[in-house]
Amino acid sequence: MTNSKSATAEPATSRLDLKETEVGSVFVSNYPPYSFWGEEKLAEGFQALNSKPDVQNTLGLYMHIPFCRKRCKFCYFRIYTDKNSDQIQEYLNALATEVELYSRLPSVQDRPLKFIYFGGGTPSYISVKHLKLLAERVKAVLPWDSAEEIAFEAEPGTLTRSKLQAIREIGVTRLSLGIENFSDFILQENGRAHLSPEIFKVQPWIQEQGFEQLNIDLIAGMVGETWDSWKDNVKKTIDYDADSVTIYQLELPFNTVYTKMLSESGGEQIHVANWQTKREWHQYAIEELQQAGYEISSAYTMVKKGKKTNFVYRDSVWQGTDMLGTGIASFGHMNGIHLQNTASWADYIEPLTLGKLPLKRVLIPSAQEILVREMILQLKLGWLRTSYFKKKFNADITDQFKLSFQKLADEGMLTFDETEVRLTAKGLLQVDTLLPEFYADKYRNSRYT
Ligand code: SF4
Repeated sequence: MTNSKSATAEPATSRLDLKETEVGSVFVSNYPPYSFWGEEKLAEGFQALNSKPDVQNTLGLYMHIPFCRKRCKFCYFRIYTDKNSDQIQEYLNALATEVELYSRLPSVQDRPLKFIYFGGGTPSYISVKHLKLLAERVKAVLPWDSAEEIAFEAEPGTLTRSKLQAIREIGVTRLSLGIENFSDFILQENGRAHLSPEIFKVQPWIQEQGFEQLNIDLIAGMVGETWDSWKDNVKKTIDYDADSVTIYQLELPFNTVYTKMLSESGGEQIHVANWQTKREWHQYAIEELQQAGYEISSAYTMVKKGKKTNFVYRDSVWQGTDMLGTGIASFGHMNGIHLQNTASWADYIEPLTLGKLPLKRVLIPSAQEILVREMILQLKLGWLRTSYFKKKFNADITDQFKLSFQKLADEGMLTFDETEVRLTAKGLLQVDTLLPEFYADKYRNSRYT
């Protein structure tokens, strides 16, 4: 999951009451929680952008493309399904203008980009013409030919052979295909725009382009899933032979079609697997993928052994990179400050037509909060080295958080010593529910967004 889509609503559900999949958010994408970001520090945000950067830190660019063919019933992301070609061009013009404005700021000027991430929404929804124009304008001010990774999210039904060629031509190295499930019944039930024939139709076209990495996304626990269908899903996933496979467990955040249905029907219309079942399905997939030659790369992602399957965007964000979060509602982090854009169409586009950045919320994290952010995000890898925190923050994290680490160790979630922390298989399957353990008191049991 990416930037804008990672903003979830309402408090994180406690891991103690996860028997059923209740309405609420579990996935942790940032710290401190978004609900504590505000407008009052906007001036400091602009000041940070107008300051020279820490030359030791890397820089990435996230671009949000908020269009989809259809809204999936579990989706709470900031997306549009009703925009025509002219409106899409209007949005992409604004997006390119935003990047151009950033490129002139002291915090960005002359810095090389380490990674670029096209997230959404569905970046592959836009036309070849639109994509090429966007890439041309952005590359003119922030060249990305030497970037280590250019990642691009795609929905199978939006891809054509020529679009894949264009995606490759603009330099994309990592294509992430949102398959989510191979069953037509489940895809339809969950409101996905694509069906399985489209998944297989695009496979040879993708191979033809020779992307450095093909990732596919699955969701464990989509409505209608059973043990039999999940096993079939995992088999088809292995046959698809991607370089990496990312598996999320279905959540029910507020403001989705499903959560509305649940509140209207008292929960009778749909059945969502409980957390235990979803974890069992996830664990089954991990074991099958391991047997097929994949290894664990994070709580969500399995990668093919022996292939160069870094995920530069993820690793950079989890290590506190500077990142320009561009596009509607996007999140960024620059010169030690968290920044978020406005979340409505007009409020995003209008300031840009006047040459102003559409920033909405800012948070200035303390040094301790920056440490906690990197520690909890890196825990999602399944392990972390204490020396990283010693070197970067001069902090002994296993001493500082001894009680929390010990509590989780007693629950069988992890092991730790003075050199490393390592999650157990049980801990890894529910890592997001463990992370609030490290939050400062004022952020616990608070709204996440
Ligand atoms: S493809 Fe579905 S889940 Fe993904 S952003 Fe679009 S509507 Fe949401």
